[in-house]
Amino acid sequence: MPAIGIDLGTTFSCVAVVKNGQVEVMQNDRGNRITPSYVAFTETEQLVGDAAKDGATNNFKNTVFQSKRLMGRAYDDTNVQSDIATFPFEVIKGSDDKPIIKVTHRNATRELCPEEIGSMVLRSLQETAQAFLGEKIRDVVITVPHYFNDAQRTATKDAATIADLNVLRLINEPTAAAIAYGLDKANNDLKTILIFDLGGGTFDVTIAKVKDRNIDVLATGGDTHLGGEDFDNRMVEHFAREFLKKEGISIYKNPRAMSRLRKACEHSKRILSSATQENVIVDALCDGIDFKGVITRAKFDDLNSDLFDQTIDTVEKTLNEAGLKADEIDDVVLVGGSTRIIRIREMLGELFEDNKIRKTINPDEAVAYGAAAFAANLTNDVTNEIEQFTISDVTPLSLGFEVRGRDMCTVIKRNSKIPITNHSSPTTAFDNQTSVHFKIFEGERPATKDNHLLGSFVIDELPPQPKGVPTFDTKFHIDSNGILTVSAYHADTGQQKEITIAYGKERLSTTRIKRMQTAAEMFKKADDEYRAQSEARNKLEDFVYTVKKSGNSRTAKQTILESDRQTILKKCHETEKWLEYHSAAEKNEIECEHKKLKDLCSKYSLL
Ligand code: AMP
Repeated sequence: MPAIGIDLGTTFSCVAVVKNGQVEVMQNDRGNRITPSYVAFTETEQLVGDAAKDGATNNFKNTVFQSKRLMGRAYDDTNVQSDIATFPFEVIKGSDDKPIIKVTHRNATRELCPEEIGSMVLRSLQETAQAFLGEKIRDVVITVPHYFNDAQRTATKDAATIADLNVLRLINEPTAAAIAYGLDKANNDLKTILIFDLGGGTFDVTIAKVKDRNIDVLATGGDTHLGGEDFDNRMVEHFAREFLKKEGISIYKNPRAMSRLRKACEHSKRILSSATQENVIVDALCDGIDFKGVITRAKFDDLNSDLFDQTIDTVEKTLNEAGLKADEIDDVVLVGGSTRIIRIREMLGELFEDNKIRKTINPDEAVAYGAAAFAANLTNDVTNEIEQFTISDVTPLSLGFEVRGRDMCTVIKRNSKIPITNHSSPTTAFDNQTSVHFKIFEGERPATKDNHLLGSFVIDELPPQPKGVPTFDTKFHIDSNGILTVSAYHADTGQQKEITIAYGKERLSTTRIKRMQTAAEMFKKADDEYRAQSEARNKLEDFVYTVKKSGNSRTAKQTILESDRQTILKKCHETEKWLEYHSAAEKNEIECEHKKLKDLCSKYSLL
């Protein structure tokens, strides 16, 4: 059973596999190599990918996208709050502070976790792979932005579990792109590369050394909240202001109008990567009034100049962390659809040299490509080309615990190579302290209030002793998926506490995952039934049409007894009526009607 590589993107996803020693990016049922990470719910079914995105403007309340931005985050997270403000679908606060997406599906309200939406996209990519390979697929390597924290990585794994996939490994998106680079480059010389990955919702910079299929990540940087959608939003705000000025109508609180304008802006933005000017047209945008605007490439660049500058600042910071200068980079690998923006390419060309910008790697497919090669590597389903890949990755954020109730004590520094285990020996802060509360944080700031709390545990029933006497062995371990386990051991009492941070409150419980798996199966079954039923209905409708046409043909009139011919035509009419009155009939009932008509035709030798 081959293992596949999945790039689960914020806006688009892509799936690839190694077949006959070659990496193949697989086409979805529409023939597209990338699939929108969209899920839509209708009165009759659940749609994923292109079909969901196509219907978004007419079904905006029930079309969910960018759920990756919500995965592994708390509802009150400021990033989540600012995202919710732009989403046309409803997001509510779940009982455990998780963001919950509320939609109407089959005329009933359905509440879904972001992980469930992710699982639906994953399942659809799994189906693409199964259709291509003709066998059941379970094993998968999934990519995540390097900046994803523990909770976000675990949420991605949970999404895969709900989809009944077995995650062989989560790897960082830029690392996957580095693998793709390694496969693409002509020789095995040591190269220092910079991967600039600007997608729909996230931005990653990675500096790595690549030699002989060994990838050694030196430093990473990025922003979990920067990408193409932010550029679209700037355009949307610009044109919404223009519409307000010209027509006196505000569309900000009109989700349908905003969604239609966003679609038009995104389309025009793409065209600006080859043309210098483009129209933005939306018929009957609001109150029946058409909108027609013009955007030049210069205006688009101007609207986004601070965001573009931000990407270059991050590149410079990451170079600094790796202790490198721009001229020490041999190649710049572009990943993500937004790297097609001309101004971004120009700015990178100014910082590095134009000829260092690699153009042979497809920015939409590089990540899935690398993930597939790595998946083959893990399952030993490899050729000489792919087999020797080894990855040495780094942790994106510093990890530590709180001391003195306010300060960050770092145990693992950011950009440390993973897997890693580090120890620390904290002690008590007061005399006769009988319990110690370990609070685990990630982040770079010296005060814990500015960092992100990952989880906590308590060691209590300590014998009273002067401050500074009891010592604990605190162990921080990050596995190769980037998942952190922290344990503390108190030798005097033999007490030991351990938490896998991934099991924090943002994590779904096992029972909840099981429930979601069952729901996914149930809805999949219902959708499969619906499709089978609709296929059977179409077949019968087509058959009635063919029978009527043949029955009325001159040949039939000459060869079949008139009374028999009338019997067949009458049966056609009855079948049409039956279809009309049995709109909810099941597949086997429809097939039964189909057979009756077919048998009648055979009896009278028609068709
Ligand atoms: P990704 O997440 O890597 O699939 O990137 C998707 C983002 O790339 C979306 O925001 C797209 O609008 C954007 N994108 C795709 N093609 C282009 C293009 N030709 N010019 C500018 N942005 C693009």
